[in-house]
Amino acid sequence: MLRTILPRTRLLRTFESKAASSFYKLQNPTRTTRGLYLGLNQSIRMASNSSEPPKDVKFEDIAQGKIQSPAAYDFRSDTVTTPTPSMLQSILNIAVHGDDVFSEDTTTNNLESFIVSLTGKPAACFVMSGTMGNQVSIRSHLTQPPHSIVMDSRCHVFNYEASGAAVLSQAQMITVKPANGRYLTLEEVKDNIVDSDDIHYAPTRLICLENTINGVVMPVEEIKKISEFAREKGIKLHLDGARLWNVVAAGGGDLKEIISYFDSVSLCFSKGLGAPMGSIVVGEKDFILKVRHFRKMVGGATRQIGIATAPARTAVEEVFLGGRLARTHELAKRLESSWEKLGGKLKFPCDTNMVWLDLKSVGVDEGDIPVEARNAGLKWDYERIVVHHQICDNAIEKLEGVFEKLVESAKARGGVQSQDMPKVARYSRRVDQDLA
Ligand SMILES: *Cc1c(COP(=O)(O)O)cnc(C)c1O
Repeated sequence: MLRTILPRTRLLRTFESKAASSFYKLQNPTRTTRGLYLGLNQSIRMASNSSEPPKDVKFEDIAQGKIQSPAAYDFRSDTVTTPTPSMLQSILNIAVHGDDVFSEDTTTNNLESFIVSLTGKPAACFVMSGTMGNQVSIRSHLTQPPHSIVMDSRCHVFNYEASGAAVLSQAQMITVKPANGRYLTLEEVKDNIVDSDDIHYAPTRLICLENTINGVVMPVEEIKKISEFAREKGIKLHLDGARLWNVVAAGGGDLKEIISYFDSVSLCFSKGLGAPMGSIVVGEKDFILKVRHFRKMVGGATRQIGIATAPARTAVEEVFLGGRLARTHELAKRLESSWEKLGGKLKFPCDTNMVWLDLKSVGVDEGDIPVEARNAGLKWDYERIVVHHQICDNAIEKLEGVFEKLVESAKARGGVQSQDMPKVARYSRRVDQDLA
């Protein structure tokens, strides 16, 4: 009896005092957090760079930021970031957990209104991932097939979403390789849309752009031209803005202005911003209602999802509004110049947080990358380097050392790549297993 009454009285007292602490925090911080951070604990052990990994990671150490993120030495992607102490704290600060399927989760509703005010679009809907955001957007824009979508041949929607647009939206994807090697132009869009009633073809109903693509910023002027053209033709325009935050941080345009040119935009919380999960779709009210419908259909409507939307909001405030992306761009620039000092070239301009090495320019074997990186205590898998907000200065120095080693061994081979160079599996990410 006492056991059930006690926590209830305590809980009541907290609400009475209007303290912003949560039920969990109140009950026993160490017990509940242990479960929550088990995964983090494990990844710290795995990724620890020192010879002596921490024996027992305590929540208090994480919450106070005493433990460096395992991502500090990991250049494979900006998805590898771990939740910051304030993101974790934001979960514990949730006073009331509601059911988001009933639209009763205040934390989630607040995040959506916050994004509405930040982006200037009338409505927003939180989704589980960038892929889900793109796919429910595409599905919501398109009606009856046959129909086609025009997009950059290198984009995420075409390459890395398990052919979702073909399966879920029965859409023909028309891919265009930009001649400038950086972004699609209006001329290329015009040349590739299907604007005809000819029964042989699938009329273009949607154009998908991506910004940044490969870390490269798409000029606002080009977006504007494509937008005007699309509106004139009655074609919808979607932006995969997983890394649109980086565009804004790099001075590549104003967030509201860029978004105003599109009918829908998906923005990611778990890439550069470092939240543990989630993306958000913005658009007109009717469109977002459809998005909610399709999100439900693909199993993306969830219950007390404040545990994800609270840290997402913290991520926007802390990393985007807090100006932390700028440092990642500066560090990427530094890596670019270190690489160029060794005689290397880049595959794409370094506009934001990615450095794409042209390995051929100095004869480096791609297969040597994960090996040399691991010897230096780093995680880096192929020609692409991604800098995120948890990369430490020491990791940058080590990476510069790896550049030197790679170029040295290339020179020893006569500055040409090996004939039988093993291709590194993209998106495998499992560097350790690959080498085992
Ligand atoms: C990562 C990414 C996505 C997909 O995000 P997930 O959350 O991994 O599904 C979509 N578009 C772009 C441009 C991305 O980089």
